[in-house]
Amino acid sequence: MLNNVFGLLPEEIELSGDSKLPVYRKQQLLTWLYKQYCADPDKMLNLPSELRDSLSQRYSFVLPEIQTRLKASDNAVKFGLKLEDGSIIESVLIPEARKRTLCISSQVGCARACSFCSTGKMKLRRNLEIHEIIGQIIVASADLKNTEAEATRLSNLVFMGMGEPLDNAGNVFQVLRILQHSSTLAFSPRRTTLSTCGVVPGIIQMADSGIKAKLAVSLNSAIPTKRDQLMPINMQYPLTELKQALLYFRRKSSFRITLEYVLIPGVNMALEDLKALKRFVGDISCKLNFIPFNPAPASEYRAPTSEECAHFMQQAQSLPQAVTLRKSRGADVLGACGQLRNHSKEENIDE
Ligand code: SAH
Repeated sequence: MLNNVFGLLPEEIELSGDSKLPVYRKQQLLTWLYKQYCADPDKMLNLPSELRDSLSQRYSFVLPEIQTRLKASDNAVKFGLKLEDGSIIESVLIPEARKRTLCISSQVGCARACSFCSTGKMKLRRNLEIHEIIGQIIVASADLKNTEAEATRLSNLVFMGMGEPLDNAGNVFQVLRILQHSSTLAFSPRRTTLSTCGVVPGIIQMADSGIKAKLAVSLNSAIPTKRDQLMPINMQYPLTELKQALLYFRRKSSFRITLEYVLIPGVNMALEDLKALKRFVGDISCKLNFIPFNPAPASEYRAPTSEECAHFMQQAQSLPQAVTLRKSRGADVLGACGQLRNHSKEENIDE
């Protein structure tokens, strides 16, 4: 199997066995890949034809194939993408004022089985390869370029799609190194967020390896027994260890931490939940982002009403940290947080 060119750092790409090629040829190739979002060597007309041929022989240029493209009433676009082995993954492009945020997947399915999340119900099928993660960005960037009048680029990237990024940390960290490289997208680390359900060794590894990205951690409850039920990972890495890892990350990294908290009525929105949350976050410097629960078909929980959210947010003002309520996007195409999963025919049959 040929290496996919979208899985390589610029210095790992070898143009040909001919060392006499001028150095600008590689930059021309990178411009096609990362500025034109072109994945067809035959169209790279400023490259000599022998070089185009040798590139096609050396590397695969395959991108995920858009199978479905659903636009929600709020203009969020959910892409259903087919990979070379037939797996389907999803990414969601969220426009907001001048921001264009892409929410990307890091795995096919997820092993972590959070009780409120649709992806968790699929179980883990496999990790995504580096080029399959970068491919989502290229496909969405090309779509933006073709559909928006002004030249618009992705501005923000969040690893909040399908999968647990820190269960695929090696590939996800390499994706960040490639994207942030000055010859590719030079993507801003401060506009990149990696969201984890709390994989403690991954958080420590991220801090130690100097990976540049903001960290978001899905907390959802600060009461141990409740978090065990919502997020089985809490039995492996309990709240006390998670807190130590967050403090360690704060000491080692200049990037901010956001704690995410899905609001589920009757589960984690009572006064005792807020008190526990306050105790947990006490001395951590972070932001708190509350997310109204998005129900998926056959979900055992219900969405909070806007009054319930407003009431909760009013009480949350007593926290010393900055608190925000996330606006849910793309829900009418099942593209909102926690709604991403593979809706293949096969699966619909067993449901
Ligand atoms: N595995 C990573 C990233 C995927 S989930 C993680 O757990 O962080 C991204 C965010 O969506 C998390 O904060 C998660 O708590 C939230 N989420 C999951 N299911 C949801 C749902 N049904 N409604 C609202 N938010 C949900």
